[in-house]
Amino acid sequence: MNNRGNTGSLQFDELKAVYAISRVVAETVDIDKALAEIVRLARPVFIFDNAVLYLLNEKNGTLEPAFARAIGRGRSSEADLSWGELAAHEAFNSGKIHLNEPDPKPEADRLEQGFYLGQPMMVGGKNIGALVFIRFGGPPFTSDQINLAEFIAAHVTQVLEHQRLVERIANLEAERRLAQLQSDFLATVSHELKTPLGFIKGYSTTLLRKDAHWSEEERREFIGIINEEADELGELVNNLLDSSRLQSGSLSMELKEVELPTLLDEIVERQKVRYPEMEIQLASQALKGRFAVQVDPRRLAQVVENLISNAVKYAPNGKVQITVSENEARVSISVKDDGPGIAQEHLDQIFKRFYRVPSKNNSVRGSGLGLYICDQIVSAHGGRLRVRSKKGTGTTFIVELPRQKELQPA
Ligand code: ADP
Repeated sequence: MNNRGNTGSLQFDELKAVYAISRVVAETVDIDKALAEIVRLARPVFIFDNAVLYLLNEKNGTLEPAFARAIGRGRSSEADLSWGELAAHEAFNSGKIHLNEPDPKPEADRLEQGFYLGQPMMVGGKNIGALVFIRFGGPPFTSDQINLAEFIAAHVTQVLEHQRLVERIANLEAERRLAQLQSDFLATVSHELKTPLGFIKGYSTTLLRKDAHWSEEERREFIGIINEEADELGELVNNLLDSSRLQSGSLSMELKEVELPTLLDEIVERQKVRYPEMEIQLASQALKGRFAVQVDPRRLAQVVENLISNAVKYAPNGKVQITVSENEARVSISVKDDGPGIAQEHLDQIFKRFYRVPSKNNSVRGSGLGLYICDQIVSAHGGRLRVRSKKGTGTTFIVELPRQKELQPA
């Protein structure tokens, strides 16, 4: 079957076509496009009306049409892939070229007089399918033409072989990445779960010791820590659940029309109570415009709260400024801190699942899930989460949402 070395018997035009086909094979990325191109290049030197490629479906052992091109007569019947099925089976089963040529019947419709050339396709000694060329009403295939058809089939085989290799490599790479992701996931999750659990266990054991006496103040401090760590644990479990729902596409959004300044005002008031040490400001112009957005208010609040709590974690005891702005296409909420900033090389990474900027200061805890979840939630609203930061100059996260019409003042 592999006739690629034997180009001596080809005419100049044929050789040119075979060379062009081999270029297509070398550069192929999209298999359908490559096959269409091969058929187009072959056509001037090799007359046929239809070409159908049958491939073995390994799951059920049947030959199935994978690609078909009708070019000449019978073109309107392109959808009829069953043409050539018999020749494909014969070539596939015998592993040899199969010619099926009808006895000439001058009065018969040409479409009923198909001349079939079926060629087996082999990769690594294994039959993978068959390529069938069809001529309606003849002329019969000459031995030179059969030779040329073999070249074409050999190149089609090469495209398929290449495609299989690419798929195999992609699968291996995906498997490797999945395994790496799973082990990173387990390492991160176990570490993150263990930290709050360790504190809860440690302080509760301490409180239960019979041989120690704690003042009321100490007891309250310990219980306070247990309470905080339980919250931490709860938040982590929620993040893990959200993250896996996002991965499986089952995190649903309940979109409603919301007046953004009111929602932000509520969020900011809650965060001020939660983080009294931070100066959290909602810029006043935010309240003047009455921006209406179509959002899931609970999820949008989760995003803004997460950005504020990141500012609390990474830019502690500073100022967080929240502003709303708009242009024709978008309404943007920005959350700006005056903390240490993020170095350029990490900016593309921070929205990835589990990504944390490496730091010498391990006291800031986190799972690297927060910004991933924020980014996915904003995307689910048809928006975009962006970041602007430079090391040493603070960080601004910008939530861009598609714009709705403005609400009319009441
Ligand atoms: P986590 O806070 O759990 O580590 P995130 O996904 O929320 O995960 O953040 C990813 C990383 O981005 C953090 O580890 C941190 O290094 C960096 N980061 C996020 N917000 C800020 C910020 N406001 N200032 C500086 N660095 C930040």
